[in-house]
Amino acid sequence: MVGGQADVKLVSNAMANATRRKIMAMLVEKERTRADVEQAAGASMLDYHLQMLQQAGLADIKDEVITLTDFGKNFMETKAEKPAQAKKDLSGTAPLQITEVRQLLPCIADVSKFRIIARIEPQLRGALKLLEPLFPRARYSERIGALIIQKGNVLITLYSNGNVTMTMISSEAEARTVLEGLKETINKAIISGITPAPREKVKVDHAEVYKYLPKTDCKICGEQSCYAFAIRMVGGETTLEKCTPLLETKFATSLETLRALREYL
Ligand code: SF4
Repeated sequence: MVGGQADVKLVSNAMANATRRKIMAMLVEKERTRADVEQAAGASMLDYHLQMLQQAGLADIKDEVITLTDFGKNFMETKAEKPAQAKKDLSGTAPLQITEVRQLLPCIADVSKFRIIARIEPQLRGALKLLEPLFPRARYSERIGALIIQKGNVLITLYSNGNVTMTMISSEAEARTVLEGLKETINKAIISGITPAPREKVKVDHAEVYKYLPKTDCKICGEQSCYAFAIRMVGGETTLEKCTPLLETKFATSLETLRALREYL
């Protein structure tokens, strides 16, 4: 039975990785052979991912067949979106308008780039998740209830309450252009339905994560250095929350970028 503080951490670490979340989602439907999982989730580090799920008490492996444990089933049920809240299409969604665009702090990874906050109306709420297929590099995050879209170096996060944040933007004018493009794509989908764009894989490596860490090597996270932390975070062996210095206001942009990047791990 999973329930203690250490166990909660094991579950949280196990579910902090996109490949492991994908495996769990597959197992909700039915038990799978190892070959099934390898075909869908890839062979890279598969043993490690399965071991993390087993250690957290979420999945069992017997004779090359992988199943959810009772705890894993209950856990996935609590994470499922309730039918009443789910939205199946965009019908009834009013066209989007951009109502505000403001430039905030520079990004510490590149001080020539800024963080932008904007607002769109109406609030997309349950429809937000439906928009993921529209953008080749989008990822809907259950954890933060937001749609993250990567366009080049720019990360755009659309929240269900209408807030939008953008990092690594050169100017407010660039932000407006990117937002207008998003608005056009979404409004077209509201009128004509969603045409899925070809998916593009987003690769996030430790060098990318390291760029946004405080680089003080303070060891608060339990690692010897920020670089070591970046390696372990990409490997799913530690969680972003352990770097508490990121909660300082001056790192707000970095924290937001890292929260977005981890959805692609
Ligand atoms: S707590 Fe954050 S700033 Fe400190 S060493 Fe770890 S990653 Fe670096």
